[in-house]
Amino acid sequence: MTRELSYPDLYRKLRNRFGDLDWWPGETRDEIIIGAILTQQASWRNVEMAIANLRGEGALDLRKISRMRIGRLERLIRPSGYYRQKAKRLKAIAGYIFRNYKDLDELLGKDAEELRQELLSLDGIGRETADSIILYAAEKPIFVIDAYTRRIMNRVYGTDDGMDYDELRALLSGSIKRDLGLYKDFHAQFVELGKEYCRQRPLCAGCPINEACGYFKSLSVDR
Ligand code: SF4
Repeated sequence: MTRELSYPDLYRKLRNRFGDLDWWPGETRDEIIIGAILTQQASWRNVEMAIANLRGEGALDLRKISRMRIGRLERLIRPSGYYRQKAKRLKAIAGYIFRNYKDLDELLGKDAEELRQELLSLDGIGRETADSIILYAAEKPIFVIDAYTRRIMNRVYGTDDGMDYDELRALLSGSIKRDLGLYKDFHAQFVELGKEYCRQRPLCAGCPINEACGYFKSLSVDR
């Protein structure tokens, strides 16, 4: 594995290029959790339309979702795709919270690992969704691994394609100061790099970390 750029230096370079990204795009804890479910297999642009529909109906609220008829919820979130499945998931998580806790804060106030296990036990909540909720809604430092992070790690450091989610998470969090703001922004920086440069077809020429990227170096050698 090529390892010339330390993870803190990677973050510094990205931050210098993209600035403070102020993520996740959501004003309330409810909105962040709803967004984390809606963004599964969907582009954020489509999720925004679904969120705007919910907001327009005053329904960007898990307690309201727990009481809403599923057909109405499906109609509102339709732009996010897989809307039947996502409506069921939203109803399931909202119902779970208010059956078992007095409010959302009580659930999110739990210890991060306990909360993670509980979220993972719910239907349709995988590790990326659970960790996004823990990092951005519960505001506890846990690293989120998404497709962009995985792709960038593969290309820059040569990590294995099939590396397990938690192994990759441990690799990153073991080398970075455990700090909520840093974890939040580091994830956002990965997403920005993935959207702007490290796309499926990468735009390496303008990429802020190309000098340290194993993939880019291998292209230069091949030329
Ligand atoms: S140099 Fe190319 S492959 Fe490497 S991180 Fe940048 S865009 Fe991705």
